Amino acid sequence: MIPDPSPLRVAIVGGGFSGTLVAVHLLRQERAVHIDVIDPRGAGRGLAYSTVWDEHLLNVPAVRMSAFGSEPMHFLEWLRANGKSDAAPDFFAPRKLFGTYLQDLLQSSVRAAGSRGRFRQHYSEATDLSYNGKRVRISLRNGDRIHADKAVLATGNPAPRPLGSRTPGYFGSPWETGAFAGLDPDREVLLIGAGLTAVDAFLALVSQGHRAHIHVVSRRGKLPHPHTSYRPLTGAFDATGATGARDLLRMIRRRVRQAEVQGDDWRAVVDSLRPVTNDIWCRLELSEQRRIHRHVKTWWDIHRHRMAPEIGAKILAARESGQLRVHAGRVSKPTADETGLQVDIALRAGGSLALHVQRAINCTGANEDYHMVPNPLIQALLDTGRIRPNYIGKGLQTNPHGAIIDSDGVTSDWLLTLGPPRIGGLLETIAVPELRKQAEAMASYLSSLIYEPVETPVELLMAAGI
Ligand SMILES: Cc1cc2nc3c(=O)[nH]c(=O)nc-3n(C[C@H](O)[C@H](O)[C@H](O)COP(=O)(O)OP(=O)(O)OC[C@H]3O[C@@H](n4cnc5c(N)ncnc54)[C@H](O)[C@@H]3O)c2cc1C
Repeated sequence: MIPDPSPLRVAIVGGGFSGTLVAVHLLRQERAVHIDVIDPRGAGRGLAYSTVWDEHLLNVPAVRMSAFGSEPMHFLEWLRANGKSDAAPDFFAPRKLFGTYLQDLLQSSVRAAGSRGRFRQHYSEATDLSYNGKRVRISLRNGDRIHADKAVLATGNPAPRPLGSRTPGYFGSPWETGAFAGLDPDREVLLIGAGLTAVDAFLALVSQGHRAHIHVVSRRGKLPHPHTSYRPLTGAFDATGATGARDLLRMIRRRVRQAEVQGDDWRAVVDSLRPVTNDIWCRLELSEQRRIHRHVKTWWDIHRHRMAPEIGAKILAARESGQLRVHAGRVSKPTADETGLQVDIALRAGGSLALHVQRAINCTGANEDYHMVPNPLIQALLDTGRIRPNYIGKGLQTNPHGAIIDSDGVTSDWLLTLGPPRIGGLLETIAVPELRKQAEAMASYLSSLIYEPVETPVELLMAAGI
């Protein structure tokens, strides 16, 4: 028997960490593969690692940012071989350097695959996908069409939820072109949202010499905590018996109190939850998952998604100097006048604050409601029922392998997703440690879907003169 030589053809929409790692794992397999990655940014960086600012650091130490879970030193060794010879495991590397690492990894994987792997990049946006029972057809903004056996939606982190119609001086996201351009360093700026996206925007402003006040507003006015070194707890968090948000919160708080009595840091408790977070999440009733998103998620995010210690120090210094002003409250829709934007904040503590700023930037983070994601491909797929939102209205509905479940409840055997679009079904699905696992599993799953080794009897090949 001679194995069927026809290659597995996979189209990957999105060339960020998720899409790149699926490609890398497919290239590392032994079979012939044709990969098309579609992304206006190209492959290897995605949103997070395309930043142009050196001040934007990873929010995870280098030793936990390897592209491969089975090779934890991979990124650290790459850093040491590429100009950071003294990089320590707890080094918080610039994000753009991590993008270079991913591009390097992709290129070396393409080279190593040789003639077995054909890899093509399409610097355009995918606007639609269809399937005729045999092949996927992907339509691109530039008019091209791509055909494949399977498609992967690696579309990543959507833009923030819009705050109303466009107003001059208002930017819907810090990643929009021109969000930091043409600013007067002596006039105030407002950042709406107080998570890591707002921290990024603050760093960008300061690095380009902004001197005036930078206002940050969010409902609770809480910024993420910084990392610090701590002694890890032994063993994962034991959440046996927790059936809901209230139980879980109580258990975490009790565990934090115990840890602090023993001289341990609360971060050790939060991080001990990481290996079991998704298991706990999947056991919860949908009503409890919704409750966590409504009431606990903000608290969870500021403890779980932390910033590098040096960024924490910059934030602290700017708050102490008064340049960075953090408000808790609800912001009105900005209205433009001749000199800037008028914004009112209904303060959580009562009363209101009127601000006049030259620019307001929406930093509220990824919008998890896919009905509102301004991505033509996502909207085309939703409109025709080929994808549907998750039961709790966040992310997309999938099976445990990331195969899309359509609006009729049918599990797709041609369209899969990973990473941020799986939010809702999973709680931990946006950071590298989870994405690398999902990408590796997806590459194996894709191969298993298509390539139950189709073998052709030698007699038939001989009869056909092959
Ligand atoms: C600013 C920021 C910083 C972060 N820092 C860290 C960190 O330090 N450590 C960590 O573990 N995680 C971090 N994360 C989490 C992040 O989600 C993951 O690390 C990872 O980058 C996600 O990769 P992704 O490929 O799923 O998504 P993305 O990086 O968002 O990439 C998705 C890509 O899909 C493309 N795309 C979308 N729609 C289409 C379409 N229709 N056609 C073609 N292309 C399309 C986009 O152009 C984009 O390049 C950060 C996230 C952000 C936003």
